[in-house]
Amino acid sequence: MQGEKHKHTQRVLRICHDCDLIQEIPPLKAGKTARCIRCHSILERHRTNSLDRSLALALTGIILFMLSNLFPLLSLKAGGVALDSTLLSSSIELFRIDRPLLSLLVFFTTILFPALSLAGMVYVLGSVKLGHNSQWIGPIFRFLRSTDVWGMLEVFLLAIIVAGVKLGDLAEIIPGISLYSFFALVIILALLSSTLDPDDVWQHQETTT
Ligand SMILES: [Zn+2]
Repeated sequence: MQGEKHKHTQRVLRICHDCDLIQEIPPLKAGKTARCIRCHSILERHRTNSLDRSLALALTGIILFMLSNLFPLLSLKAGGVALDSTLLSSSIELFRIDRPLLSLLVFFTTILFPALSLAGMVYVLGSVKLGHNSQWIGPIFRFLRSTDVWGMLEVFLLAIIVAGVKLGDLAEIIPGISLYSFFALVIILALLSSTLDPDDVWQHQETTT
């Protein structure tokens, strides 16, 4: 928990990584940096606008997620017949051909879980942004941080590409809009996890409860 980028509301002791001098530093405001009084190396930095950027990325994620579900992922063309496959129809099709477990797995990892996670993230970040307080923010955020939903999406995307390559001999495969938005979603979510500063949320919790 304690680290160079950790923000705090009280004065804390920090040891300089370069000259080992121990010194007390005050809570930092956004964009401010605390430097060692002896050697001027950076002791702590408060990232600027990480909350705004994270919220914008989460909202972009929701739009991309909706596109991913509204449009076909792939179109298969064989023998003059074209078949559009969306995330939901893939899941239903798996159920139809007696693969209930796989069907549920696809449904949970590509639709339900990402939907709930994105909604939860927007709820948490939006609440912090608006200064709104709720007892749910902490538990939801802790849960979001403990699950690796985005990792699942990456695996799924890889599986689609592999399946596409394998089916390539049997049918003509046309990538759908959803495949691109899905790909963009994976990138946006990676950006989100690198931009997000969890202390923005914890600090909000500390000051409002
Ligand atoms: Zn120093």
